[in-house]
Amino acid sequence: SIQLIWLRNDLRLTDHPAIYGASNERLSTDSNKSVTHHNELHIVVTLTPEQWGKYDESTAKQSLRLALIQALVDKSATKDITFHLLHLNAFSDCAPALLDLCQALNCHSIWWQSELPYDERQRDAQVEVLLGEHNINVHSLAPDILVSQPVLNGQGLPFKVFTPFYRRWLDALKKNHFYVYPDALPNNCNNGQKEPPKAQLRSYAALNTLLEKRHYRDDLWPANYTHIKESLNTFCETKASHYKDTRDFPAISGTSLLSPYLSLGAIGPRELLSTLRDHHNKEAGEDWTAGTWLKELAWRDFYRQLMWQFPHLSKRKAFKPETERIVWLENKDHFQAWCDGQTGFPIVDAAMRQLKQTGWMHNRLRMITASFLTKLLFMDWRKGEAYFMSQLIDGEFAANNGGWQWSASTGCDAAPYFRVFNPTRQSETYDKKGKFIRFFVPELQHLSDKDIHKPTPEQCKKTRYPEPIIDYKSARAYAIEAFAHYTRK
Ligand code: FAD
Repeated sequence: SIQLIWLRNDLRLTDHPAIYGASNERLSTDSNKSVTHHNELHIVVTLTPEQWGKYDESTAKQSLRLALIQALVDKSATKDITFHLLHLNAFSDCAPALLDLCQALNCHSIWWQSELPYDERQRDAQVEVLLGEHNINVHSLAPDILVSQPVLNGQGLPFKVFTPFYRRWLDALKKNHFYVYPDALPNNCNNGQKEPPKAQLRSYAALNTLLEKRHYRDDLWPANYTHIKESLNTFCETKASHYKDTRDFPAISGTSLLSPYLSLGAIGPRELLSTLRDHHNKEAGEDWTAGTWLKELAWRDFYRQLMWQFPHLSKRKAFKPETERIVWLENKDHFQAWCDGQTGFPIVDAAMRQLKQTGWMHNRLRMITASFLTKLLFMDWRKGEAYFMSQLIDGEFAANNGGWQWSASTGCDAAPYFRVFNPTRQSETYDKKGKFIRFFVPELQHLSDKDIHKPTPEQCKKTRYPEPIIDYKSARAYAIEAFAHYTRK
């Protein structure tokens, strides 16, 4: 029989539970005649650009997705596997299209890894019902995170702050005996020369047309699975042990830069873990699970688990309901200055220009710029969340929403709302010599290491760099007062 695997944001062939599961069903024995039948494996990807547009997904991310799909199609052609692309619009198109495909293939078994945001769960439920009505077995597997069962507190409730979640998560991780799913796909018996079926060829041509519109930094994030693996290896071998000390400095390449691949599932979470474990310094007797990088992967799980446990987060609602009463300020010029990197705060402007030019922003800078928009410009976090999504190559709903709500003090954060990042102090601490600023705000490159964080009005005039659009002290005071006023019970 035929096994169909539906890939979504898990665009890879290795370390893949659904592919592994489907592959293990590959050989079926006819008990009457003791004959072994070789079953067929098919992969399907549904393209739903209208839906992705609804979530403000950037063209960079959409392009990278297509390029990864192309790489997968090429890879699948060397395996005994058929690849199908369904060009649809919205999630609601998936159920009938998948039913059509199953019927055309005479397939009675479909596999996928579940996804946690609300719309994705609705989509999957619709597919499950429709296919179930037609006697097609649905294997909906655990989500693509490290701890895929809900992480709950002693009362059986989800955690609302990270630190206790992390402790429980780590316990679960250690108990899970995780392992990387082996590559279960055999090479094509014809040395990769097997002619793909016509449906695959048709989709492939359409994919090439779509790829002509490619719009992302493929010099930084090539759609190449060997490169992805090598990047992970290099990071774990050379950078992971210094990560704690380097990760906050945007001028240092101290982080993995894997987020664009992780957001599309081009590498699996278990593979991250096993590579990290294999490279840790065994002689120093370190506990590899105590590292800071693993803690960041726990944040990834945390925000995804929140989406699962609190569906209102998927509906553009604040995690803390009382913060919905806040009347945010509207100021088109301020918002535009923030988007364009023209606020007159060099670290904020360098960060926003990095985002526009590369589709990626360093984590410390995401916190600084988000705090700037929501606290100092006192603008609705949803505006910043949407703008980030429209630019980020790694735009990922759970992490982006979590990061924005954390920064705006409307979400899961143990710190009180009066924590406001001072952009100049942040700049002096994390970009002490202004190396990062000089790269993205070249008009300031001749300023001294001291002045670069806060140019004088004369320096601004001379370099045609804008003067600050707000006064930090009064903006901070306004935010704290307004927050207290609107959220008072
Ligand atoms: P590394 O430091 O190498 O971390 C490894 C991986 O862990 C990352 O690739 C990512 O998958 C995960 N991770 C790390 N930090 C976080 C975090 N705080 N929350 C959730 N996951 C994390 N991350 C996204 O992947 N997509 C987003 O759309 C996104 N939006 C953000 C918006 C804001 C306002 C903030 C404050 C953070 C956001 N993050 C987002 C989290 C974080 O900034 C990025 O994951 C990180 O900068 C990616 O770089 P890296 O791959 O080098 O990360």
